[in-house]
Amino acid sequence: MTSNIKCNLINGKWQKGAKATDNINPANTTDIVGVYSSGSRDDVNVAAEAAKDAFHGWANASPQVRHDLLDAVGNTIAARKAQLGELLAREEGKTLAEGIGETIRASQVFKFFAGEALRVKGDTIASIRPGVGIDVTREPLGVVGVITPWNFPIAIPAWKIAPALAFGNCVVMKPAALTPGCAHMIAEILMECGVPDGVFNLIMGSGSIVGEAILNHPDIDAVSFTGSIPTGKHVAAKCFETNKKFQLEMGGKNPMVILDDANLEVAVSACISGAFFSTGQRCTAPSRFIVEKGIHDQFVSLMKEGMAKLVVGDPLDVNTSIGPVIDERQLQSNLNYIEIAKQEAAEVFGGERLELDKPGFYQNPALFLGTTNDMRINREEIFGPCASVIKVEDYDEALRVANDTSFGLAAGICTQSLKYATKFKREAEAGMVMVNLPTAGVDYHVPFGGRKGSSYGPREQGQYAVEFYTTVKTAYTYAG
Ligand code: NAD
Repeated sequence: MTSNIKCNLINGKWQKGAKATDNINPANTTDIVGVYSSGSRDDVNVAAEAAKDAFHGWANASPQVRHDLLDAVGNTIAARKAQLGELLAREEGKTLAEGIGETIRASQVFKFFAGEALRVKGDTIASIRPGVGIDVTREPLGVVGVITPWNFPIAIPAWKIAPALAFGNCVVMKPAALTPGCAHMIAEILMECGVPDGVFNLIMGSGSIVGEAILNHPDIDAVSFTGSIPTGKHVAAKCFETNKKFQLEMGGKNPMVILDDANLEVAVSACISGAFFSTGQRCTAPSRFIVEKGIHDQFVSLMKEGMAKLVVGDPLDVNTSIGPVIDERQLQSNLNYIEIAKQEAAEVFGGERLELDKPGFYQNPALFLGTTNDMRINREEIFGPCASVIKVEDYDEALRVANDTSFGLAAGICTQSLKYATKFKREAEAGMVMVNLPTAGVDYHVPFGGRKGSSYGPREQGQYAVEFYTTVKTAYTYAG
């Protein structure tokens, strides 16, 4: 362990935790990205109390003050995109280009919500009683607990922290234990840009200690969570018990329908980039390619050709198209699903573990062929570079298969038919629908989220974020 341990941020002070953990580069396990403090329940208690104390001042600060802070944070993140993008690539394993792209996205999110701080609206409505006026206004919730996963270690923290602060809430944040580095950098930047003490607190560490302490703390009024379905269900039960408002963004098993009339070049490119870039570790990645029978064989052969050209390697090497899997546990889980695919009589193309120059968690992308929608590989989220092909008769069967899932995050269709594109946009049971585009890859100024088992609560991002991060007050005035 080095003496340069990255600390938690509690009430404006950097504080070492009781323990510290190495942040390991999944592309080279001999590379320690940094040593990061792990917080305790007491750390969360102190942070939550500080956030509660800071709330009145922050909620009543001029929107201009909140705008200026978020705008400065957005500008600073953008100015440091090379440094942050590299840190992201080293701690998460995304390619450098993806890491820089995600960093730019975080900057855009902060700048968008800087503007939103100035645009909080209300309503004036006529009363049914003479002489009475009604105002409906939005107010912040109080202290928001933010719990995030490892796969977008700067963008997801940004799209929760920025709206929380913009609308006048204070934050106690816990990033994923595997990727504390980017969240720590956001905390450093918030401090540099002058966030008042207690308004933003960062406690790194495990879900079982820090996460649980956030869920249990009575001064935390709301929780915004992104992660897996089992953890999400636990978060929901705890928040219900402790009377917190909550929002969950969880897994996906996103369908991508390819009809006979699709532009194959567009379809194959959308399927390859969507399913395998970022090592397939995106909740919006398409993982079920539902292909009409007339185009099936040609699609499969072009997919194999395209996949053979993908270079799995060191994220910092410009020739790399796919970095490593996040850790050994996730890699073993992916390999286990590849075994399940074989047991379920699917033909498996690719998917081998790779040993490269540097010790890391490398895997070739896998395509499962000849599959049916009832197989486990098509019902459970794998969360790695693995996707299936399901052959169907026509659009109607494709739609049935696409919607036959407990998830409902994103759904895509590749077709040149206006009729089927329009029908699919209406009929797909998903929060986001893409036509001739990968299901992964979204804009930051519009709502993000899903249906069924994928999401719970109001949408994230864009103007819709105000629904979660504020509460509405209805005030009646008699002026007679
Ligand atoms: P995870 O559920 O294991 O962890 C998510 C977060 O919850 C982490 O910070 C973790 O430490 C914390 N946590 C764990 N146990 C906890 C507990 N008992 N109490 C409180 N917090 C606890 O998920 P992950 O492996 O980090 O992320 C992968 C999952 O995230 C995938 O299922 C993926 O689909 C999902 N995801 C969803 C979206 C979306 O917007 N829908 C985006 C990205 C990732």
